[in-house]
Amino acid sequence: MKANYLDDLNAPQREAVTTIKGPLMIIAGAGSGKTKVLTTRIAHLMNNGVDAFNILSLTFTNKAAKEMKERVEKILGGSEARNLYIGTFHSVFARLLRSDAPKLGYPSDFTIYDSDDAKSVVKTIVNELNLDDKHYKPNMVYNRISAAKNSLVSPEEYQHDYAIQQEDQRSSRPLIGKIYDMYAKRCFKNGAMDFDDLLYKMYVLLKGFPEVLAKYQHKFKYIMIDEYQDTNPAQYEIVKLLGAVHENICVVGDDAQSIYSFRGATIQNILQFEKDYDDVKVVKLEQNYRSTKSILNVANEVISKNKGQIEKNLWTDNHEGEKIKLIRTNTDNDEGKVVADTISEQKLRNHYDNKDFCILYRTNAQSRSFEENLRRSAIPYRIYGGLSFYQRKEIKDFIAYLRVIMNSRDEEAIKRIINYPVRGIGKTTIEKVSIYANDQNMTFWEVLERAKEFGFKGGTLEAIDGFVTMIQSFRVMLEKHNAYEVAVQVGKSTNIVKELFNDKTTEGLARYENIQELLNSIKEFTETPTEDGELLDDKTLGIYLQQITLLTDADNGKDEDSNVVKLMTIHAAKGLEFPIVFTVGLEESLFPSGMSINSREELEEERRLFYVAVTRAKTRLFLTYANSRYRFGQLQQNEPSRFLEEMPEEFIDRSYAGGGMRNTGPIGGGGASWGNMFDKKKAPAGPGAPASSASSSARPTPRPAAPAGYHVPSANFTADDPATMEAGMDVEHQKFGFGKILSLEGAINNRIATVMFPKGGGEKKIMLNYAKLMIV
Ligand code: ATP
Ligand code: MG
Repeated sequence: MKANYLDDLNAPQREAVTTIKGPLMIIAGAGSGKTKVLTTRIAHLMNNGVDAFNILSLTFTNKAAKEMKERVEKILGGSEARNLYIGTFHSVFARLLRSDAPKLGYPSDFTIYDSDDAKSVVKTIVNELNLDDKHYKPNMVYNRISAAKNSLVSPEEYQHDYAIQQEDQRSSRPLIGKIYDMYAKRCFKNGAMDFDDLLYKMYVLLKGFPEVLAKYQHKFKYIMIDEYQDTNPAQYEIVKLLGAVHENICVVGDDAQSIYSFRGATIQNILQFEKDYDDVKVVKLEQNYRSTKSILNVANEVISKNKGQIEKNLWTDNHEGEKIKLIRTNTDNDEGKVVADTISEQKLRNHYDNKDFCILYRTNAQSRSFEENLRRSAIPYRIYGGLSFYQRKEIKDFIAYLRVIMNSRDEEAIKRIINYPVRGIGKTTIEKVSIYANDQNMTFWEVLERAKEFGFKGGTLEAIDGFVTMIQSFRVMLEKHNAYEVAVQVGKSTNIVKELFNDKTTEGLARYENIQELLNSIKEFTETPTEDGELLDDKTLGIYLQQITLLTDADNGKDEDSNVVKLMTIHAAKGLEFPIVFTVGLEESLFPSGMSINSREELEEERRLFYVAVTRAKTRLFLTYANSRYRFGQLQQNEPSRFLEEMPEEFIDRSYAGGGMRNTGPIGGGGASWGNMFDKKKAPAGPGAPASSASSSARPTPRPAAPAGYHVPSANFTADDPATMEAGMDVEHQKFGFGKILSLEGAINNRIATVMFPKGGGEKKIMLNYAKLMIV
């Protein structure tokens, strides 16, 4: 055991860690060591004789849980940390529900529906009720149902609640309550819970079964919750129930980082905590260890514009650091280019690795221009959230087989694969099966099993029987074989793997590789202990499916720590830190979001989001925005975000050109521009803009020892005017090194050169407007 683990802490941190008994609230600003305190506190509890099995710790991502476990193990040595109950609310409750779900009438192998599955069920119901799905949009209805569950409102209550009825009538959607009711029944029949059910049913279970409540109250003698400011009413009530006997509850949070009120999280939970228990101890942490003074000052100043924050004085002993760089570009594509160029420059100048960078945006849709430009610059990256690996069609199809094998009631999964690969079971047949199942109050699967009795004939009957027999054979196999072996057999028997293998298109190849990757991940799963601390011999297909369904936006399944630039929404970045952060798209109507500027509450939440973004940065922070961008298929002109005006001027550098680019003068159109962002007239946007003196200071200074694999540009590297270049010339490119121009094409102000770089990856097409190319 590491004996001196308390020495790493400052006085209030140590006080929080060593306060073991009673309710404790740690309320503190960003980067002040809240998560570190939680981790150390777990180790301290165990060091003082508390059994790991008695500790429940709820984190924001599975990744955070894994890290915590590892850090506790580091402090304590040994593998006891494996026995902790650490994870997200959803993953921990899913695990508890596995053993108690039968009490609620669910199979213990219940399926977990992701939001796609859930919306598909909603859509089916909207159609069954002959409602217009443009009026009752499945997405909107699903969100309403989700909100109801997170506020612990049952379908019955929803339907009877006068106020809600009123509201629905005002918005002329009076049938949402009915859809909610049918949806809940359908999920139950399918043996499925959606994400929100993992909270809602947990609550129902604890409320309805006193012996179950007593069991967990006794088990979880110590409860800890990170990011408490973002708990919703369901989470709040469950924790209150679980902790009611021992009252050893420790919550940590920051009211300034509350960013989930749109999902029903309420900051009241923090304020209420002191009232819920007698003798609550409150510890404040005020020293930030993460960021430079410049970064912290900007964050503090902007958040001070919010009213009614809990008083905190967040300071740091760290260096002042560089000023925050503010970069304005003409278009969103230029924004992507500036960021990619700046990453290249920072790697070269300051020896950063790809993994040191994070690009944060307000919405997932913004990732495209960054992806394109990173790819063009050959910078490896990964997008967190958005369409993840597990949401790809071929992966979902394959997983649907595994789901059906596990849970025959899972109608959504059956429908997904009953005719994939094509086996002659058409839409009409599927609709008939649905109708029979509803009429007879049977499951979809039961109707399939008895297809002959229901009058199916000929080829259709044969196809259905073939499908049923195949699934049954997988189930039999599951008794003696592990998840991987069964999955391989699924690939074979269904012909999926072979079909994809024979599809030689690029997409087909990618799909084939994805399926192989999925099989690899199942293999890996069966061979290593689960993240969840599940027992080693409990490597069932069910646990595998649960794990992948509950990955959060910030979790990425595999290769968490690989050396890539990370791209994610600000919401997903909560609790994380990176040496260099780009917060992009700082424009009115994008950030703050156009949907959130009509009330003070909404605007303040956007400001907290900005605070979260800024405080992820340790050493360097870049803020970017574009004059215009395509959104919803239209070119929009946007003003700079109001948050930029709120920043203290002395910590901001507005002269940075971005990525060592220089203004390409006569060409215009691309690249960064600079100047006073609030005075557009001053900004040299477009043709004829004079090169700013700032641009030269932003050019990379050659270093004697560049990282391996990099071309070191000549001293005083200055790109030459594209107009003077010809085929046959020898040139030097800042990144690809020396080369020869093979040909030139395009108009004089938009010239593209084909250049052969013998040591820089061969032949490349270079846009001279953007390239840093010098005649040698
Ligand atoms: P957030 O509000 O973003 O969740 P946090 O309050 O949870 O932040 P941590 O992530 O725990 O803060 O800590 C921020 C950084 O400061 C981490 O790199 C952590 O290791 C470091 N840190 C925290 N406390 C100390 C300390 N006493 N000495 C040195 N480093 C510390
Ligand atoms: Mg934290």
